[in-house]
Amino acid sequence: MGIKEIIRNQNARDDRSREHTVRGKYGMAASAVEEATEAGAQVLRDGGNAADAVIAIQLALAAVEGMNTGIGASGFITYYDAGRDETKVINAHTVAPEATEPDLFLNQENEVPPFIKRSTRAEAVGIPGIMKGMETLHDKWGTMPLERLIDPAIRLAEEPYRVDSLWEKTIKMMHYRLHDEAKKVFMPKGVPLVEGDSVTQKDLAKTLKIIQEHGFSAVYEGEIAEAITDTVRANNGLVTSEDLRNYRVSIDEPLRGSYRDYEFAFPAPPNGGGFAVAQLLKILEPFNISQYGVNSWEKYFILTEALRLTLADKSTYIADPEFKEMPIEGLLSDAYIAERRKQIRLWKRNKDISYGDPWKYQDGEPNSLVHSEPAEEGNETTHFTAVDRWGNVAACTSSIERMFGSGIMVPGYGFLLNNDLTDFNPHPGRVNEPDSGKHAVSSKTPLIAFHGGKPFLTLGSPGGSTIVSSVLQVLLHVLDYEMDLNEAIAVPRIFSSVNDPVQLEVELDDEVKKKLSAMGYDLNVKTLRIGDVQAILIDQENGILYGAADRTRPGLAIGLLEPPAGG
Ligand code: GLU
Repeated sequence: MGIKEIIRNQNARDDRSREHTVRGKYGMAASAVEEATEAGAQVLRDGGNAADAVIAIQLALAAVEGMNTGIGASGFITYYDAGRDETKVINAHTVAPEATEPDLFLNQENEVPPFIKRSTRAEAVGIPGIMKGMETLHDKWGTMPLERLIDPAIRLAEEPYRVDSLWEKTIKMMHYRLHDEAKKVFMPKGVPLVEGDSVTQKDLAKTLKIIQEHGFSAVYEGEIAEAITDTVRANNGLVTSEDLRNYRVSIDEPLRGSYRDYEFAFPAPPNGGGFAVAQLLKILEPFNISQYGVNSWEKYFILTEALRLTLADKSTYIADPEFKEMPIEGLLSDAYIAERRKQIRLWKRNKDISYGDPWKYQDGEPNSLVHSEPAEEGNETTHFTAVDRWGNVAACTSSIERMFGSGIMVPGYGFLLNNDLTDFNPHPGRVNEPDSGKHAVSSKTPLIAFHGGKPFLTLGSPGGSTIVSSVLQVLLHVLDYEMDLNEAIAVPRIFSSVNDPVQLEVELDDEVKKKLSAMGYDLNVKTLRIGDVQAILIDQENGILYGAADRTRPGLAIGLLEPPAGG
């Protein structure tokens, strides 16, 4: 087993496609929407680098995937700088406004209202981080002027855009989240947009032009910032001009992980997705998972039990490190993992799975253990990525949390505000409780896998807490099953939290459903896909890039076969 076989098995073709893996030599871009990928690919063709391409994609997505991301979004960007041979993570995740208290979500009866209620109110709006994250990416690694990078986004917003299946599906499923201003865009005159309709977003184009002229900082100070705080205030939310002005992203060292002879860079806490995939890989390593078929019940059983173990730890221990000491070293130590692994009993569902005690494996004061229930999961958010001809790698997962975020659109500016604060546990006293200036735990997992010290694979997915499961499965399909990238993404996926019903995609073999059900699992068979993975594989030896986009959304990977203009 090894990377030579993996590369040999890439069944790629030399064009742009969502049907098969795509090959490139001078760069690759992938996102969940064709037009956004094209914006990134054009930047690469014009001589930009991976940072430039990802900025152009994010801005274009604000226009063509505004229900999942945009100016009001937050996210994490993992960046490999080939010149310095170093990887950094930009934490552009939401921060709770200064006025936030742990009882943010309690009503007058001291109860937590249902998710739909608390997530569609302005109290759920967190300080949006992604535009500051893009500014930081641009300042540190970008090479092209923002004026150029934002051009495709302005065009996509200002000119008639043909509504795609993603818009139709999202509006149909989630229109109940929309406040009046947002309905004007997504349901003009009360009629939901459907595939093939045409939409123009003049207000959004105006906002993008302000950013073009004044830079990303216009979202945090100036006209756009004022419009955000006016809207939040009018709806009784907490974000103030001071919150926006004081918001900072950080450029962090990644959390490192390993699996066989691969190494990984993930976002570190307050991101919980990186921790989860790092721990899952360590738990799974000795199982030699590819001895079982890729569609076998044995594979899905082992994954389910491993997910239950890790998600119990994640919701118990992971929080913003500025607020809580965390036993990360213990949680990832070999001795602790060996102890946890024993909980996976072949072939029997372990009904007693719960969190472990990692403090035994790390110096420090155990903090009070207060288990947090995982946040509601969905299939929101979006993941996009680019690799350039110099070998720089950029991977970003960005989100307004739920589809349509809070459902509140900034009047006259055409973008949605997030409901990021529902990533906190709504119950005061939990490790991940809301608090002033605190990051909520995120599951976004834009990762880079290395082989022999060089980037080999990058990927990520939307889907709340299911993200870690989608990312893990595609990793295993490539690294262990040596599958073609596009096929690795297409294999039906599973997700399990600790005790909730196991989510299975409907296409899974009946044998898997039968076996798991007979073992005592409750099953929740999903007709919708779990996650939406975009990935790029890098053959360092031959200088070939392979890219693929999930079929869940109208995504696309585009590879450059010709050298960029002038170079
Ligand atoms: N806000 C979530 C997170 O940061 C992502 C939302 C989703 O993908 O459903 O983990």
